[in-house]
Amino acid sequence: MKLSVPVAEHISRLKPYVPGKPIAEVKRELGLSDVIKLASNENPLGPSLKAVEVLKETAGHVEIYPEGSAPALRTAVAKLVNVPEEYLVFGNGSDEILHMLALAFLQPGDQSVQADPSFAMYAIYATQSNAEVIKVPLKDFTHDLEAMADAITPKTRVVFVANPNNPTGTLVTAEDVDRFLARVPSDVLVVFDEAYDEYVDDERKPDLRKYVLDGRPIVITRTFSKAYGLAGLRVGYAIAHPEIAALLERVRSPFNVNLPAQAAAAAAAGDQEHIKRTVALNAEGRQTFYKAFDRLGLKYVRSHGNFVLVDVERDSRAVFEALQKHGVIIRAGAGLGLPNHIRVTTGLPSQNQRFIEALESVLKEGS
Ligand SMILES: *Cc1c(COP(=O)(O)O)cnc(C)c1O
Repeated sequence: MKLSVPVAEHISRLKPYVPGKPIAEVKRELGLSDVIKLASNENPLGPSLKAVEVLKETAGHVEIYPEGSAPALRTAVAKLVNVPEEYLVFGNGSDEILHMLALAFLQPGDQSVQADPSFAMYAIYATQSNAEVIKVPLKDFTHDLEAMADAITPKTRVVFVANPNNPTGTLVTAEDVDRFLARVPSDVLVVFDEAYDEYVDDERKPDLRKYVLDGRPIVITRTFSKAYGLAGLRVGYAIAHPEIAALLERVRSPFNVNLPAQAAAAAAAGDQEHIKRTVALNAEGRQTFYKAFDRLGLKYVRSHGNFVLVDVERDSRAVFEALQKHGVIIRAGAGLGLPNHIRVTTGLPSQNQRFIEALESVLKEGS
């Protein structure tokens, strides 16, 4: 078909998001039966069993619309993050929160500022709003907040900071953030994406809630997809001043977080033992990777998340393809402007071993 319906230029030039390759697809394509995926920063332990229990209970009641305001989840998260309930907005994943932010705060001709490389969706949502995306290169794989402050112009409305950053796993500290925010004009909204917050074990980590509670135009986004192991359910949230929250409510679709998801996420929030186990497993996984990369003489970025970026010193797409033949899916840095890096999620100890053995033989094969 030759489409005769006119399409806005900013939509037709968008490149769709490329997700991690699904296990089922690799099995089908390569005729493999045993495939592991360390590509999307999912929790290898799965969700809390308490969340699974609640999912089963709610399955028989899905003829009922969910409550748009997500009251039970709201109470659980308010308690978890220690902010008043009116400071929360829930999304179909934190992705939807990012989308709502772009809808509410970016108009055609406005600018958004972000790091490069960082999470791909910031640019996609900003472009959907027909805003101009300003990308500021990382410095030592870390957000260069000084350069990002320099990049702000009178047209800038939103700045996105992933902390820790994806795909590098690096952290900006409380001190970095204080210095940065002192330079950001009051008519610019700063979004701190804390998708990997639970994994951060560093006393220099900023506590951004104080800025939010002080009434600064700052939004924190968090998710149940990563450490909470609920990526398939799609639940995320924003912590923001009620005035900002009220604007996001105007662009939120009415039943965006489904009924089982609301209930399961509330139960997951109450199971901090599961988070402790998850965080401990990840800390061990990172060390396993560091040791292996040291042994193989590969440079890597020390990570505050549940993934590690490693320089494989050759075309990351070739390494991605070769690892796939060993039944291991990782993320190639090629699409992110890191042609010789791969990003690998920490898995179960046996999965980490399998990845390391596969990587070692792929590097020997000289791909
Ligand atoms: C995974 C991820 C998200 C999106 O997670 P949702 O599943 O939409 O909650 C957001 N930001 C970063 C940096 C991520 O890595």
